[in-house]
Amino acid sequence: MTSYDYDLFVIGGGSGGVRAGRLAGSMGKRVGLAEEFRMGGTCVIRGCVPKKLYVYASQFPEHFSDAAGYGWTVGERSFDWSRLVANKEAEITRLEGLYAKGLNSAKTEIFASRAVLKDAHTIELTALGKTVTAETILIATGGRPFMDESMPGHELCVNSDQVFDLKSLPKSIVIQGGGYIAVEFAGIFNGLGVETTIVYRGKQLLSRFDSDLFTLLNDAMIEKGIRIVTEAKITAVHEAEGEHSLSVSLSNGDVLAADQVLQAIGRVPNTKGLGLEAAGVAMAGDGSVVVDAYSHTNVENIWAVGDVTNRVQLTPVAIHESMCFLETAFKGNAMRPDHELIPTAVFSQPEIGTVGLSEEDAAKQYTNVEVYRAHFRPMRNTLAGRSDKMLTKLVVDGDSRKVVGAHVLGPDAGEMAQLLGIALKASATKDDFDRTMALHPSAAEEFVTMYSPSYRLVNGVRES
Ligand code: NDP
Repeated sequence: MTSYDYDLFVIGGGSGGVRAGRLAGSMGKRVGLAEEFRMGGTCVIRGCVPKKLYVYASQFPEHFSDAAGYGWTVGERSFDWSRLVANKEAEITRLEGLYAKGLNSAKTEIFASRAVLKDAHTIELTALGKTVTAETILIATGGRPFMDESMPGHELCVNSDQVFDLKSLPKSIVIQGGGYIAVEFAGIFNGLGVETTIVYRGKQLLSRFDSDLFTLLNDAMIEKGIRIVTEAKITAVHEAEGEHSLSVSLSNGDVLAADQVLQAIGRVPNTKGLGLEAAGVAMAGDGSVVVDAYSHTNVENIWAVGDVTNRVQLTPVAIHESMCFLETAFKGNAMRPDHELIPTAVFSQPEIGTVGLSEEDAAKQYTNVEVYRAHFRPMRNTLAGRSDKMLTKLVVDGDSRKVVGAHVLGPDAGEMAQLLGIALKASATKDDFDRTMALHPSAAEEFVTMYSPSYRLVNGVRES
């Protein structure tokens, strides 16, 4: 038994922190966990979970119109934003309760307070006027939306924390950014009937993804009625009189009228005022906590996981880093988090699911790249009379036959990417895909029936 109050003190009750707190508690460690806002963190309270609920809500208008082709007559319909917000709130409150319950049953002590490090072993719980000590400390404070405060009118904009709880559904919205959050919310608002414009400083939305994904998504979003303005930035937002309450000035000289402006221009690590300097914890220029391959900081007893380390900003990654931290710090089994081949989904409309290398990145790494590609109308859209197409794509190292990238655009793309991730992680070759029996009728069967390459890239140059 040490002289510290806790064996482990976790700062932050998000995905990474809660997992570490709960499992360390169930190992019999004396654990404390401080969370200043709501248990569950970004993912549960203002990220993945409410976002996906809103995506579902926004898809109903298409379902209603598709229903006619299947013989249904759908009666009068209306949408109530406040009911969606209230129901979302009830669901995240339920999940928040489950997180707290899990910690309580592991005998982890929860403190509803901001925690500030005073030194490497001392934590001040500011809301409680109390100081505690711990042998080991885990920083899991996550990130927060970046706001460019130098932009005139930034205070009139909302970020992704605030957008879930807008008082009313706007008639029109301008969304700045070209990443995950911008395209997901563009789909949500457009689906709910809001006039939606994306403003992005680059040439192509989601430009770090495979080019087929971003090109086809771009076209589909425009087809669904989203306006996309590229190579432009918002330079100022002003209050306006008239039909729309805001006037949005762009760097290309355009002025847009809107009721809301959402800034979705990245997330930054939550380290401000955390006392890291007092504890001697090194931070990078972007404010993230610097860690080694085991999530260990430069201070012997302090570790950090999740978005606060700005490695890969994804919930399952934070959870995995936490589990590896517990193995390393408490079980004598040094375990590095594995950041290779992380499947990811963008809940855009249409949805994206992807794992591994884009065609462009594969062409930089491999001399002979084979691309297998199917672009087709999924069966569901036939009777619905919907023209939306789906993409399935495999990127293969032609020399080893290993599948190095798998990409999907269309319904359930995220579900497919999760399973494709297993195949790629197991180093499946194209021949393994070929000898897997197709499951018919499904969209995923395309992944095992694309027998000939659509084209090859040799030394980075495309051959037909
Ligand atoms: P992203 O990093 O995905 O995208 C940020 C976008 O903002 C980029 O297009 C970037 O442009 C642009 N940008 C950055 N700074 C500025 C600026 N000063 N002015 C104008 N534009 C700017 O961040 P998000 O905010 O969309 O999401 C944050 C992270 O959260 C994601 O990276 C992802 O890891 C995670 N997330 C995951 C989701 C999922 O798994 N489905 C859903 C939502 C979020 P450029 O491309 O030129 O750099």
